[in-house]
Amino acid sequence: MAGDFGDLTPGVFPTILKDTNANPTTQPFWDAAKHDRLAAPRCTSCGTFRLPPSPFCFQCQSRDVEWLDLQGTGTIYSFTVVRHPLHPDLVDACPYVSGVVELDGTQGAGARMLVNIIDVDPDAVRIGDRVEIVWEHVNDEMTTPRFRPVRA
Ligand SMILES: [Zn+2]
Repeated sequence: MAGDFGDLTPGVFPTILKDTNANPTTQPFWDAAKHDRLAAPRCTSCGTFRLPPSPFCFQCQSRDVEWLDLQGTGTIYSFTVVRHPLHPDLVDACPYVSGVVELDGTQGAGARMLVNIIDVDPDAVRIGDRVEIVWEHVNDEMTTPRFRPVRA
């Protein structure tokens, strides 16, 4: 069934947004994503990662930031399996996994991403599972990150 969201794949939440709506604080993330790189801002004052990007550090209120490339791997910190569609036309995407991924290379300093975890059996997902980033190139300006289990 092709509704408002086009052809759907079970387990994959469709890309609804076609524009990053970036601002100077978030633009470096999207620029890196275009090249399949996961870049994260880190406070140069205290070392806390600020992902999603924020204009001020939530630990020390500094505005100073440096952008670092991360490996794009991590562990599932938390997740939920969405079985009830948020919109009637999303029924064919269900069930899908929405999770919080703790990113490798952030030394426990605050870099987690809320993402769709794909290529996985929703009934087999566990906290602590190893995952890696996959990029969906939506258009010239926007590339969307998702995560999938790390293959042995
Ligand atoms: Zn700080």
